[in-house]
Amino acid sequence: MFRKFSFLKVSFHIVLIFLFTSCALRAQDTKGMANQYVIAPGEVRLVDFPVNSKESKFLCRGSEVKFAQRNGRGLAFVMESYFSNLTSFGCQLIEGSKEIYSINFSVVDKPYKAEQLKVDSKKIKLSPKDELRVAKEQAILNKIYQSSIPDFLFTEAFKQPMDSLITSVYGTRRVYNKQKKGQHLGIDYRAAIGDKVPASNAGKIVYSGDLFYTGWTVIIDHGLDIFSVYGHLSKTLVSDGDIVRRGDIIGLSGNTGRTSGPHLHWGTKVQGQYIDGLVLIDESKKYFK
Ligand SMILES: [Zn+2]
Repeated sequence: MFRKFSFLKVSFHIVLIFLFTSCALRAQDTKGMANQYVIAPGEVRLVDFPVNSKESKFLCRGSEVKFAQRNGRGLAFVMESYFSNLTSFGCQLIEGSKEIYSINFSVVDKPYKAEQLKVDSKKIKLSPKDELRVAKEQAILNKIYQSSIPDFLFTEAFKQPMDSLITSVYGTRRVYNKQKKGQHLGIDYRAAIGDKVPASNAGKIVYSGDLFYTGWTVIIDHGLDIFSVYGHLSKTLVSDGDIVRRGDIIGLSGNTGRTSGPHLHWGTKVQGQYIDGLVLIDESKKYFK
């Protein structure tokens, strides 16, 4: 009888200790989730925070990150560059001169694979004429990327532009024709010449034309420094200034620009850096349907 009692007493204590520690851990986790994020090079995180004033500024690494205001909350996509030096950083919401809210990001490394590719040698060693063309195009693109619309133009989550096989993932380190090194900062989808290419989310067409590297290209501004790029098209079906919805057909896939065969190249840019579109999709689903 005595032995049984003591066994019950011991088990009761174990249950109590277990309950106490699991509650304590959970409380700590919840607190950590609001203000502490983990991010890797080439990734993005959707953060939200309380906002009271339209004049507030959200700063990450000391630079302003534009955010949307929805139902008293601020929503921002914070990116970490592919070329990260893995330094942790903080973001602060500033109202007037006061810091209202702060978020910490720990940056962890992420291994990206390598691949070899064979492309037209004229797209590797550029002629002076092509170098001039690339410089002109870069100037046009820089201007586009610096004048994003100051609010989200989408109300749904991002989606992959195609559901075909991904033939090259984001971040792959590339060696072109065994001589030129680069990084593949987009996602390649298997596509034939002439397959329909839908928009991955709603936005405004800010470029539709022929570029040296990505061939016939469409660029969509989704607002607040978020852009998506569709490259190597055989034809574009939209014009500058068009407003598109998620899923609208913006062009047909092809083989133009620097390619090793027909496919769709999908790039996603946040705050001036190409980030992994699959991470952008997952993060956008945290708030949008
Ligand atoms: Zn690509």
